[in-house]
Amino acid sequence: MKNLKKQIIQTLDGSLSPKEINLLEKAFDFAEQYHSEQKRQSGEPFINHPLRVALTISQMKLGINAVIAGVLHDIVEDCNVPISKIRSEFNEEVAFLVSGLTKVNKIKYKGKEEDGIIEKENFRNMILAMAKDLRIIIIKLADRLDNMKTLWSLDPQTQTKKAVETLEILAPLAYRLGMTDIASQLEDLAFPYVFPKEYKLTRKILGKRREEQKAYLNKLVPLTRKKLQENNLNPKEIKFRTKHLYSVWRKLQKEEMDIKRITDLVAMRIIMNSVGECYAALGLIHQMWKPVPGRFKDYIALPKPNGYQSLHTTVFAEDGRIVEIQIRTSQMDEEAEGGIAAHWIYSSLKETDNYAKRKKFSLPKNFYWINQLREWQKTFYKSEDFLNALKVDFFKDRIFVLTPKGDIIDLPDGATPIDFAYQIHTEIGNQAIRALVNGKLVPLNYKLQSGQVVEIITKKGKHPSSSWLEFVKMNETRKIIQDALKRKNSI
Ligand code: MN
Repeated sequence: MKNLKKQIIQTLDGSLSPKEINLLEKAFDFAEQYHSEQKRQSGEPFINHPLRVALTISQMKLGINAVIAGVLHDIVEDCNVPISKIRSEFNEEVAFLVSGLTKVNKIKYKGKEEDGIIEKENFRNMILAMAKDLRIIIIKLADRLDNMKTLWSLDPQTQTKKAVETLEILAPLAYRLGMTDIASQLEDLAFPYVFPKEYKLTRKILGKRREEQKAYLNKLVPLTRKKLQENNLNPKEIKFRTKHLYSVWRKLQKEEMDIKRITDLVAMRIIMNSVGECYAALGLIHQMWKPVPGRFKDYIALPKPNGYQSLHTTVFAEDGRIVEIQIRTSQMDEEAEGGIAAHWIYSSLKETDNYAKRKKFSLPKNFYWINQLREWQKTFYKSEDFLNALKVDFFKDRIFVLTPKGDIIDLPDGATPIDFAYQIHTEIGNQAIRALVNGKLVPLNYKLQSGQVVEIITKKGKHPSSSWLEFVKMNETRKIIQDALKRKNSI
Protein backbone atom coordinates (compact mmCIF):
# COMPACT_ATOMS: atom_id res chain seq x y z
CA MET A 1 0.00 0.00 0.00
CA LYS A 2 2.82 2.39 0.97
CA ASN A 3 4.47 1.24 -2.16
CA LEU A 4 1.45 2.16 -4.28
CA LYS A 5 1.33 5.65 -2.81
CA LYS A 6 5.02 6.11 -3.49
CA GLN A 7 4.58 4.89 -7.06
CA ILE A 8 1.79 7.40 -7.67
CA ILE A 9 3.88 10.30 -6.43
CA GLN A 10 6.88 9.08 -8.43
CA THR A 11 4.81 8.77 -11.57
CA LEU A 12 3.56 12.33 -11.22
CA ASP A 13 7.14 13.29 -10.51
CA GLY A 14 8.02 16.95 -10.95
CA SER A 15 4.61 17.97 -12.22
CA LEU A 16 3.18 18.66 -8.76
CA SER A 17 3.34 21.83 -6.70
CA PRO A 18 3.86 21.44 -2.92
CA LYS A 19 0.21 22.36 -2.46
CA GLU A 20 -0.85 19.61 -4.85
CA ILE A 21 1.30 17.03 -3.08
CA ASN A 22 -0.39 18.01 0.19
CA LEU A 23 -3.80 17.60 -1.37
CA LEU A 24 -2.86 14.19 -2.76
CA GLU A 25 -1.59 13.02 0.62
CA LYS A 26 -4.74 14.31 2.23
CA ALA A 27 -6.71 12.18 -0.27
CA PHE A 28 -4.64 9.10 0.68
CA ASP A 29 -5.40 9.66 4.40
CA PHE A 30 -9.04 10.41 3.71
CA ALA A 31 -9.59 7.25 1.66
CA GLU A 32 -7.64 5.09 4.08
CA GLN A 33 -9.71 6.35 6.98
CA TYR A 34 -13.04 5.61 5.28
CA HIS A 35 -12.03 2.29 3.74
CA SER A 36 -10.10 1.09 6.80
CA GLU A 37 -12.65 -1.52 7.89
CA GLN A 38 -13.31 -2.81 4.38
CA LYS A 39 -11.85 -5.72 2.52
CA ARG A 40 -12.12 -6.66 -1.12
CA GLN A 41 -13.78 -9.98 -1.98
CA SER A 42 -10.28 -11.14 -2.82
CA GLY A 43 -9.36 -10.70 0.86
CA GLU A 44 -6.97 -7.79 0.45
CA PRO A 45 -7.50 -4.39 2.12
CA PHE A 46 -9.99 -2.34 0.12
CA ILE A 47 -7.70 0.70 -0.13
CA ASN A 48 -5.41 -1.15 -2.55
CA HIS A 49 -8.08 -0.95 -5.22
CA PRO A 50 -8.54 2.86 -5.36
CA LEU A 51 -4.78 3.28 -5.10
CA ARG A 52 -4.18 1.00 -8.10
CA VAL A 53 -6.83 2.92 -10.03
CA ALA A 54 -5.15 6.21 -9.11
CA LEU A 55 -1.80 4.80 -10.23
CA THR A 56 -3.21 3.97 -13.66
CA ILE A 57 -4.64 7.49 -13.91
CA SER A 58 -1.38 9.07 -12.84
CA GLN A 59 0.35 7.33 -15.77
CA MET A 60 -2.08 9.04 -18.13
CA LYS A 61 -1.16 12.52 -16.98
CA LEU A 62 -4.70 13.81 -16.75
CA GLY A 63 -3.89 16.24 -13.98
CA ILE A 64 -3.89 16.06 -10.19
CA ASN A 65 -7.65 16.31 -9.76
CA ALA A 66 -8.22 13.19 -11.85
CA VAL A 67 -5.69 11.28 -9.73
CA ILE A 68 -7.36 12.43 -6.50
CA ALA A 69 -10.75 11.46 -7.94
CA GLY A 70 -9.25 8.01 -8.61
CA VAL A 71 -8.21 7.73 -4.95
CA LEU A 72 -11.66 8.81 -3.76
CA HIS A 73 -13.78 7.15 -6.43
CA ASP A 74 -15.51 4.60 -4.18
CA ILE A 75 -15.91 6.84 -1.14
CA VAL A 76 -19.37 8.21 -1.89
CA GLU A 77 -20.86 4.91 -2.92
CA ASP A 78 -19.26 2.57 -0.42
CA CYS A 79 -18.79 4.80 2.62
CA ASN A 80 -21.78 7.17 2.38
CA VAL A 81 -19.62 10.25 2.34
CA PRO A 82 -21.66 13.12 0.86
CA ILE A 83 -20.31 14.88 -2.22
CA SER A 84 -20.49 18.17 -0.33
CA LYS A 85 -17.83 16.84 2.05
CA ILE A 86 -15.52 16.06 -0.86
CA ARG A 87 -16.15 19.51 -2.25
CA SER A 88 -15.26 21.22 1.03
CA GLU A 89 -12.28 18.98 1.85
CA PHE A 90 -10.86 19.03 -1.69
CA ASN A 91 -12.23 21.13 -4.51
CA GLU A 92 -15.09 21.61 -6.94
CA GLU A 93 -13.43 19.68 -9.76
CA VAL A 94 -12.64 16.60 -7.66
CA ALA A 95 -16.23 16.63 -6.36
CA PHE A 96 -17.53 16.91 -9.91
CA LEU A 97 -15.44 13.96 -11.11
CA VAL A 98 -16.32 11.75 -8.14
CA SER A 99 -20.02 12.48 -8.42
CA GLY A 100 -19.89 11.81 -12.17
CA LEU A 101 -18.23 8.46 -11.48
CA THR A 102 -20.76 7.58 -8.83
CA LYS A 103 -23.50 8.13 -11.41
CA VAL A 104 -21.68 6.05 -13.99
CA ASN A 105 -21.26 3.24 -11.46
CA LYS A 106 -24.99 3.04 -10.95
CA ILE A 107 -25.41 1.86 -14.51
CA LYS A 108 -26.99 -1.53 -14.68
CA TYR A 109 -26.47 -2.79 -18.15
CA LYS A 110 -28.29 -6.03 -18.70
CA GLY A 111 -28.21 -6.43 -22.45
CA LYS A 112 -31.06 -6.38 -24.89
CA GLU A 113 -33.82 -8.59 -23.47
CA GLU A 114 -33.93 -7.15 -19.99
CA ASP A 115 -33.42 -3.60 -21.14
CA GLY A 116 -35.87 -1.87 -18.82
CA ILE A 117 -36.49 1.82 -18.31
CA ILE A 118 -34.12 2.12 -15.36
CA GLU A 119 -31.28 0.60 -17.28
CA LYS A 120 -31.89 2.95 -20.16
CA GLU A 121 -31.91 5.95 -17.86
CA ASN A 122 -28.64 4.96 -16.24
CA PHE A 123 -27.05 4.04 -19.48
CA ARG A 124 -27.90 7.49 -20.72
CA ASN A 125 -26.29 9.01 -17.64
CA MET A 126 -23.12 7.23 -18.48
CA ILE A 127 -23.02 8.65 -21.94
CA LEU A 128 -23.97 12.09 -20.70
CA ALA A 129 -21.23 11.96 -18.10
CA MET A 130 -18.82 11.05 -20.80
CA ALA A 131 -19.76 13.91 -23.03
CA LYS A 132 -19.51 16.27 -20.08
CA ASP A 133 -16.00 15.29 -19.18
CA LEU A 134 -14.08 12.38 -20.63
CA ARG A 135 -11.91 12.04 -17.55
CA ILE A 136 -14.91 10.42 -15.87
CA ILE A 137 -14.99 7.69 -18.48
CA ILE A 138 -11.22 7.26 -18.36
CA ILE A 139 -11.31 6.82 -14.55
CA LYS A 140 -14.20 4.41 -15.00
CA LEU A 141 -12.12 2.36 -17.44
CA ALA A 142 -9.20 2.25 -15.00
CA ASP A 143 -11.62 1.19 -12.24
CA ARG A 144 -13.07 -1.59 -14.38
CA LEU A 145 -9.63 -2.76 -15.46
CA ASP A 146 -8.68 -3.35 -11.82
CA ASN A 147 -12.02 -4.98 -11.03
CA MET A 148 -11.66 -7.35 -13.96
CA LYS A 149 -8.26 -8.45 -12.68
CA THR A 150 -9.86 -9.62 -9.43
CA LEU A 151 -13.08 -10.88 -10.97
CA TRP A 152 -12.18 -14.45 -9.99
CA SER A 153 -13.11 -13.63 -6.39
CA LEU A 154 -16.76 -12.86 -7.18
CA ASP A 155 -19.76 -15.17 -7.58
CA PRO A 156 -20.42 -16.62 -11.06
CA GLN A 157 -23.51 -14.50 -11.69
CA THR A 158 -21.69 -11.23 -10.96
CA GLN A 159 -18.73 -12.44 -12.98
CA THR A 160 -20.84 -12.94 -16.07
CA LYS A 161 -22.70 -9.67 -15.63
CA LYS A 162 -19.53 -7.61 -15.21
CA ALA A 163 -17.74 -9.41 -18.00
CA VAL A 164 -20.61 -8.94 -20.48
CA GLU A 165 -20.82 -5.26 -19.62
CA THR A 166 -17.07 -4.95 -20.08
CA LEU A 167 -17.15 -6.62 -23.46
CA GLU A 168 -20.24 -4.87 -24.78
CA ILE A 169 -19.96 -1.37 -23.33
CA LEU A 170 -16.60 -0.51 -21.79
CA ALA A 171 -14.11 -2.09 -24.19
CA PRO A 172 -15.87 -0.52 -27.23
CA LEU A 173 -15.80 2.82 -25.42
CA ALA A 174 -12.08 2.46 -24.82
CA TYR A 175 -11.59 1.69 -28.52
CA ARG A 176 -13.61 4.73 -29.48
CA LEU A 177 -11.31 6.83 -27.34
CA GLY A 178 -8.36 5.27 -29.12
CA MET A 179 -7.20 3.64 -25.86
CA THR A 180 -6.27 0.39 -27.56
CA ASP A 181 -4.09 -0.84 -24.74
CA ILE A 182 -6.83 -0.71 -22.08
CA ALA A 183 -9.43 -1.94 -24.57
CA SER A 184 -7.52 -5.12 -25.41
CA GLN A 185 -6.74 -5.80 -21.77
CA LEU A 186 -10.44 -5.46 -20.92
CA GLU A 187 -11.43 -7.81 -23.72
CA ASP A 188 -8.94 -10.49 -22.77
CA LEU A 189 -9.96 -10.29 -19.11
CA ALA A 190 -13.67 -10.62 -19.98
CA PHE A 191 -13.26 -13.26 -22.69
CA PRO A 192 -13.01 -16.42 -20.48
CA TYR A 193 -16.07 -15.40 -18.43
CA VAL A 194 -18.34 -14.53 -21.35
CA PHE A 195 -17.26 -17.26 -23.80
CA PRO A 196 -15.51 -19.97 -21.77
CA LYS A 197 -15.62 -22.64 -24.48
CA GLU A 198 -14.46 -20.31 -27.22
CA TYR A 199 -11.72 -19.02 -24.96
CA LYS A 200 -10.35 -22.52 -24.45
CA LEU A 201 -10.68 -23.34 -28.13
CA THR A 202 -8.84 -20.18 -29.19
CA ARG A 203 -5.97 -20.93 -26.84
CA LYS A 204 -5.79 -24.45 -28.16
CA ILE A 205 -5.83 -23.43 -31.83
CA LEU A 206 -3.34 -20.67 -31.21
CA GLY A 207 -0.88 -22.95 -29.44
CA LYS A 208 2.62 -21.61 -29.81
CA ARG A 209 2.01 -19.83 -33.09
CA ARG A 210 2.45 -16.33 -31.75
CA GLU A 211 5.81 -17.28 -30.24
CA GLU A 212 6.89 -18.95 -33.50
CA GLN A 213 5.96 -15.93 -35.58
CA LYS A 214 7.76 -13.64 -33.18
CA ALA A 215 10.92 -15.72 -33.50
CA TYR A 216 10.62 -15.53 -37.29
CA LEU A 217 10.10 -11.75 -37.24
CA ASN A 218 13.08 -11.41 -34.96
CA LYS A 219 15.22 -12.76 -37.78
CA LEU A 220 13.88 -10.05 -40.08
CA VAL A 221 14.90 -7.21 -37.76
CA PRO A 222 18.62 -7.07 -38.67
CA LEU A 223 17.78 -7.27 -42.40
CA THR A 224 15.33 -4.39 -42.03
CA ARG A 225 17.71 -2.30 -39.98
CA LYS A 226 20.52 -2.86 -42.49
CA LYS A 227 18.39 -1.89 -45.48
CA LEU A 228 17.22 1.31 -43.77
CA GLN A 229 20.68 2.26 -42.56
CA GLU A 230 22.19 1.77 -46.01
CA ASN A 231 19.79 4.49 -47.07
CA ASN A 232 20.63 6.80 -44.18
CA LEU A 233 17.51 6.04 -42.19
CA ASN A 234 17.81 5.26 -38.51
CA PRO A 235 14.70 3.71 -37.05
CA LYS A 236 14.11 4.81 -33.47
CA GLU A 237 12.91 1.39 -32.52
CA ILE A 238 11.81 -1.89 -34.09
CA LYS A 239 9.39 -3.90 -31.97
CA PHE A 240 6.47 -6.30 -32.24
CA ARG A 241 2.74 -6.02 -31.84
CA THR A 242 1.07 -9.22 -30.67
CA LYS A 243 -2.58 -9.74 -31.46
CA HIS A 244 -4.51 -10.21 -28.23
CA LEU A 245 -6.50 -13.37 -27.65
CA TYR A 246 -10.00 -11.98 -28.09
CA SER A 247 -8.99 -10.37 -31.34
CA VAL A 248 -7.53 -13.69 -32.53
CA TRP A 249 -10.91 -15.29 -31.77
CA ARG A 250 -12.81 -12.64 -33.75
CA LYS A 251 -10.46 -13.10 -36.69
CA LEU A 252 -10.72 -16.90 -36.51
CA GLN A 253 -14.46 -16.62 -36.99
CA LYS A 254 -13.91 -14.59 -40.15
CA GLU A 255 -11.26 -16.97 -41.43
CA GLU A 256 -13.23 -20.20 -41.04
CA MET A 257 -11.27 -21.11 -37.90
CA ASP A 258 -8.10 -21.51 -39.98
CA ILE A 259 -5.23 -20.05 -37.95
CA LYS A 260 -2.93 -20.21 -40.98
CA ARG A 261 -5.00 -17.50 -42.62
CA ILE A 262 -4.29 -15.02 -39.84
CA THR A 263 -1.08 -13.37 -41.02
CA ASP A 264 -0.87 -10.69 -38.35
CA LEU A 265 -0.74 -12.71 -35.14
CA VAL A 266 2.45 -10.77 -34.60
CA ALA A 267 3.32 -7.68 -36.63
CA MET A 268 6.61 -5.85 -36.92
CA ARG A 269 6.38 -2.25 -35.83
CA ILE A 270 8.99 0.22 -37.02
CA ILE A 271 9.19 3.57 -35.23
CA MET A 272 10.68 6.35 -37.34
CA ASN A 273 11.62 9.93 -36.49
CA SER A 274 9.31 11.77 -38.86
CA VAL A 275 6.39 11.29 -41.22
CA GLY A 276 8.71 11.69 -44.21
CA GLU A 277 10.92 8.89 -42.87
CA CYS A 278 7.87 6.64 -42.48
CA TYR A 279 7.12 6.86 -46.20
CA ALA A 280 10.80 6.48 -47.10
CA ALA A 281 11.04 3.35 -44.95
CA LEU A 282 7.90 1.96 -46.57
CA GLY A 283 9.44 2.36 -50.03
CA LEU A 284 12.59 0.52 -48.97
CA ILE A 285 10.60 -2.31 -47.39
CA HIS A 286 8.65 -2.75 -50.62
CA GLN A 287 11.94 -2.86 -52.53
CA MET A 288 13.18 -5.60 -50.28
CA TRP A 289 9.96 -7.64 -50.00
CA LYS A 290 7.06 -7.55 -52.45
CA PRO A 291 3.83 -6.21 -50.95
CA VAL A 292 0.72 -8.39 -50.93
CA PRO A 293 -1.66 -6.54 -53.28
CA GLY A 294 -4.57 -4.71 -51.68
CA ARG A 295 -3.21 -4.87 -48.16
CA PHE A 296 -1.45 -1.52 -47.92
CA LYS A 297 -3.19 1.08 -45.74
CA ASP A 298 -2.19 4.70 -45.28
CA TYR A 299 -3.69 5.75 -41.96
CA ILE A 300 -1.25 8.67 -41.82
CA ALA A 301 -2.89 10.50 -44.71
CA LEU A 302 -6.32 9.18 -43.70
CA PRO A 303 -6.39 8.60 -39.92
CA LYS A 304 -9.01 6.33 -38.40
CA PRO A 305 -11.86 8.25 -36.75
CA ASN A 306 -10.46 7.58 -33.28
CA GLY A 307 -7.29 9.40 -34.35
CA TYR A 308 -5.19 6.31 -35.11
CA GLN A 309 -2.28 6.96 -37.50
CA SER A 310 0.18 4.51 -39.04
CA LEU A 311 1.25 2.92 -42.30
CA HIS A 312 0.31 -0.75 -42.61
CA THR A 313 1.63 -3.07 -45.24
CA THR A 314 1.71 -6.82 -45.69
CA VAL A 315 4.68 -8.32 -47.54
CA PHE A 316 6.05 -11.63 -48.74
CA ALA A 317 9.20 -11.74 -46.60
CA GLU A 318 12.02 -14.30 -46.45
CA ASP A 319 10.93 -17.80 -47.57
CA GLY A 320 7.76 -16.20 -48.96
CA ARG A 321 6.16 -15.96 -45.55
CA ILE A 322 3.48 -13.30 -45.24
CA VAL A 323 4.05 -10.69 -42.54
CA GLU A 324 2.44 -7.43 -41.54
CA ILE A 325 4.63 -4.37 -41.03
CA GLN A 326 3.47 -1.15 -39.36
CA ILE A 327 5.44 2.07 -39.70
CA ARG A 328 4.79 5.18 -37.60
CA THR A 329 6.37 7.97 -35.55
CA SER A 330 6.73 7.70 -31.76
CA GLN A 331 3.94 10.19 -31.20
CA MET A 332 1.63 8.09 -33.37
CA ASP A 333 2.74 5.00 -31.49
CA GLU A 334 1.99 6.41 -28.06
CA GLU A 335 -1.32 7.80 -29.20
CA ALA A 336 -2.23 4.45 -30.68
CA GLU A 337 -1.80 2.77 -27.30
CA GLY A 338 -2.97 5.51 -24.98
CA GLY A 339 -5.45 7.22 -27.27
CA ILE A 340 -7.10 10.35 -26.09
CA ALA A 341 -5.03 10.58 -22.93
CA ALA A 342 -1.73 10.36 -24.81
CA HIS A 343 -2.96 12.85 -27.35
CA TRP A 344 -3.72 15.27 -24.58
CA ILE A 345 -0.26 14.85 -23.10
CA TYR A 346 1.31 15.81 -26.40
CA SER A 347 -0.86 18.85 -26.94
CA SER A 348 -0.42 20.06 -23.37
CA LEU A 349 3.35 19.51 -23.28
CA LYS A 350 3.82 21.99 -26.04
CA GLU A 351 2.19 24.82 -24.18
CA THR A 352 3.17 24.25 -20.59
CA ASP A 353 6.41 24.00 -18.81
CA ASN A 354 4.79 25.16 -15.65
CA TYR A 355 2.05 23.40 -13.75
CA ALA A 356 0.26 26.60 -12.78
CA LYS A 357 -0.64 27.27 -16.39
CA ARG A 358 -1.83 23.79 -17.17
CA LYS A 359 -4.75 23.85 -19.50
CA LYS A 360 -8.09 22.33 -18.63
CA PHE A 361 -8.77 18.96 -20.14
CA SER A 362 -10.12 19.55 -23.61
CA LEU A 363 -10.94 17.43 -26.58
CA PRO A 364 -8.60 17.12 -29.52
CA LYS A 365 -10.35 18.20 -32.67
CA ASN A 366 -9.81 15.04 -34.67
CA PHE A 367 -11.88 12.98 -32.28
CA TYR A 368 -14.76 13.72 -34.54
CA TRP A 369 -17.28 11.26 -33.17
CA ILE A 370 -17.10 12.74 -29.69
CA ASN A 371 -18.22 16.10 -30.96
CA GLN A 372 -20.90 14.32 -32.89
CA LEU A 373 -22.04 12.60 -29.72
CA ARG A 374 -22.42 16.00 -28.11
CA GLU A 375 -24.61 17.11 -30.98
CA TRP A 376 -26.79 14.03 -30.64
CA GLN A 377 -27.08 14.69 -26.98
CA LYS A 378 -28.43 18.17 -27.66
CA THR A 379 -30.93 16.83 -30.17
CA PHE A 380 -32.21 13.94 -28.08
CA TYR A 381 -31.60 15.11 -24.57
CA LYS A 382 -35.16 14.83 -23.34
CA SER A 383 -36.51 12.13 -25.55
CA GLU A 384 -36.60 8.38 -25.40
CA ASP A 385 -35.09 8.39 -28.88
CA PHE A 386 -31.73 9.26 -27.39
CA LEU A 387 -30.97 5.74 -26.35
CA ASN A 388 -32.25 4.28 -29.57
CA ALA A 389 -30.10 6.70 -31.49
CA LEU A 390 -27.09 5.61 -29.52
CA LYS A 391 -27.83 1.96 -30.00
CA VAL A 392 -28.28 2.21 -33.71
CA ASP A 393 -25.69 4.81 -34.47
CA PHE A 394 -23.08 4.50 -31.81
CA PHE A 395 -22.27 0.88 -31.23
CA LYS A 396 -22.73 -0.55 -34.70
CA ASP A 397 -20.07 -0.53 -37.38
CA ARG A 398 -19.27 2.76 -38.96
CA ILE A 399 -18.16 4.00 -42.35
CA PHE A 400 -16.01 7.00 -43.18
CA VAL A 401 -16.57 9.10 -46.25
CA LEU A 402 -14.94 12.26 -47.47
CA THR A 403 -16.24 15.69 -48.37
CA PRO A 404 -14.86 17.19 -51.62
CA LYS A 405 -12.48 19.16 -49.38
CA GLY A 406 -11.15 15.95 -47.80
CA ASP A 407 -12.83 16.21 -44.39
CA ILE A 408 -13.67 12.81 -42.99
CA ILE A 409 -17.27 12.25 -41.99
CA ASP A 410 -17.99 9.42 -39.58
CA LEU A 411 -21.34 7.71 -40.37
CA PRO A 412 -23.09 4.48 -39.37
CA ASP A 413 -22.89 1.60 -41.79
CA GLY A 414 -25.74 1.87 -44.30
CA ALA A 415 -25.89 5.69 -44.21
CA THR A 416 -27.18 7.49 -47.32
CA PRO A 417 -26.18 10.77 -49.00
CA ILE A 418 -29.05 12.43 -47.09
CA ASP A 419 -27.56 11.34 -43.74
CA PHE A 420 -24.23 12.68 -44.97
CA ALA A 421 -25.80 16.00 -46.02
CA TYR A 422 -27.30 16.60 -42.57
CA GLN A 423 -23.97 15.85 -40.94
CA ILE A 424 -22.43 18.67 -42.96
CA HIS A 425 -25.16 21.19 -42.20
CA THR A 426 -28.92 21.13 -41.57
CA GLU A 427 -29.54 23.47 -44.51
CA ILE A 428 -27.47 21.33 -46.88
CA GLY A 429 -29.69 18.43 -45.87
CA ASN A 430 -32.91 20.40 -46.19
CA GLN A 431 -32.02 21.76 -49.63
CA ALA A 432 -30.39 18.66 -51.08
CA ILE A 433 -31.54 17.68 -54.57
CA ARG A 434 -28.76 15.46 -55.93
CA ALA A 435 -25.75 13.53 -54.72
CA LEU A 436 -22.46 12.74 -56.43
CA VAL A 437 -20.28 9.86 -55.26
CA ASN A 438 -16.75 9.95 -56.64
CA GLY A 439 -18.06 12.42 -59.22
CA LYS A 440 -20.96 10.23 -60.40
CA LEU A 441 -24.65 10.86 -59.83
CA VAL A 442 -26.27 8.41 -57.38
CA PRO A 443 -29.83 8.10 -56.02
CA LEU A 444 -30.42 9.78 -52.66
CA ASN A 445 -31.07 6.40 -51.02
CA TYR A 446 -27.69 5.04 -52.18
CA LYS A 447 -25.75 3.16 -49.47
CA LEU A 448 -22.42 4.93 -48.96
CA GLN A 449 -19.17 3.04 -48.52
CA SER A 450 -15.95 3.91 -46.73
CA GLY A 451 -13.50 5.99 -48.71
CA GLN A 452 -16.00 7.51 -51.13
CA VAL A 453 -16.00 11.22 -51.85
CA VAL A 454 -19.52 12.57 -51.48
CA GLU A 455 -20.80 15.84 -52.84
CA ILE A 456 -24.30 17.22 -52.30
CA ILE A 457 -25.97 19.53 -54.82
CA THR A 458 -28.47 21.90 -53.21
CA LYS A 459 -31.16 24.22 -54.45
CA LYS A 460 -32.19 27.31 -52.51
CA GLY A 461 -35.68 27.24 -50.99
CA LYS A 462 -36.01 23.48 -51.43
CA HIS A 463 -37.59 21.45 -48.57
CA PRO A 464 -36.94 17.90 -47.44
CA SER A 465 -39.22 15.22 -48.83
CA SER A 466 -41.21 12.93 -46.54
CA SER A 467 -40.16 10.01 -48.76
CA TRP A 468 -36.62 10.42 -47.36
CA LEU A 469 -37.90 9.09 -44.03
CA GLU A 470 -38.24 5.69 -45.66
CA PHE A 471 -34.54 5.24 -46.38
CA VAL A 472 -32.44 7.46 -44.13
CA LYS A 473 -30.26 5.47 -41.76
CA MET A 474 -29.67 7.70 -38.76
CA ASN A 475 -32.34 8.47 -36.18
CA GLU A 476 -30.80 11.89 -35.89
CA THR A 477 -31.45 12.55 -39.60
CA ARG A 478 -35.02 11.29 -39.31
CA LYS A 479 -35.68 13.62 -36.38
CA ILE A 480 -34.36 16.69 -38.20
CA ILE A 481 -36.40 15.86 -41.31
CA GLN A 482 -39.55 15.36 -39.23
CA ASP A 483 -39.00 18.70 -37.52
CA ALA A 484 -38.46 20.45 -40.85
CA LEU A 485 -41.63 18.86 -42.27
CA LYS A 486 -43.63 19.90 -39.21
CA ARG A 487 -42.43 23.46 -39.53
CA LYS A 488 -43.27 23.56 -43.19
CA ASN A 489 -46.82 22.24 -42.59
CA SER A 490 -47.50 24.70 -39.83
CA ILE A 491 -46.74 27.70 -42.02
MN1 MN B 1 -13.92 0.99 -7.77
